[in-house]
Amino acid sequence: MKPWMVVLLVIAGILCFLARWGKLVPAMGPVTTDYGRPVVVLDAGHGGEDGGAVTASGHRESDINLQIVKKMEYVMALCGVETVLTRSEDVSLHAPGAAERGERKESDLSYRADLVNNTSNAMLISIHQNQFSDPSVSGAQVFYTLGDVGRQWGESTQQALRDLVDETNTKKAKQVSEDVYLFSHISCPGLLVECGFLSNGVEASLLLTDGYQTQLSLAITGAYLHQIQMMSKATGGI
Ligand SMILES: [Zn+2]
Repeated sequence: MKPWMVVLLVIAGILCFLARWGKLVPAMGPVTTDYGRPVVVLDAGHGGEDGGAVTASGHRESDINLQIVKKMEYVMALCGVETVLTRSEDVSLHAPGAAERGERKESDLSYRADLVNNTSNAMLISIHQNQFSDPSVSGAQVFYTLGDVGRQWGESTQQALRDLVDETNTKKAKQVSEDVYLFSHISCPGLLVECGFLSNGVEASLLLTDGYQTQLSLAITGAYLHQIQMMSKATGGI
């Protein structure tokens, strides 16, 4: 077992213990909401020939996204949350017939959207890394889907990232732009989490470590558990 797995196991145990005692969710049994029991679709952005953003040292966003998603899959499983991954390897998800690079990218995103839309009671968490021309810019930022659930979930996730990962982060959660393909092609609540800026040397170094990735995973999972508690209360479930 890798060291980060031990850390995750301990912290996730505490998280689940608190959840069982009603601090985060009233019980870890089936949660009844308008959406039924949610299934979290964990989406590691990019993959294969599409590496996404790149650090100054050449590390690809697609690999960091997948490392974080795998940690989230692990900690969510420990908390009894059902998950589905859009990809669990370094691959593009395009259809075999897609010839041009642009066609492959569209096909890849279309596959992800179909997977989300074909998953009952899905809630999407798409993990990405940011980049910007000014290398001093840093901080994780959450973008959410239109609607009360998305906004509430997005804002509490942004708060969790501030409280548990980086107290100096002044970024605010925002509604996701309509031109983000995946989010304009799904109908369930979803978050796009830009975990940090690969163009910022300090943040990029942190994002490559198991410890920081674990912190991010726990913050996002904690906010998810909080969100399903809110949804359950709103619908009188449990
Ligand atoms: Zn990206």
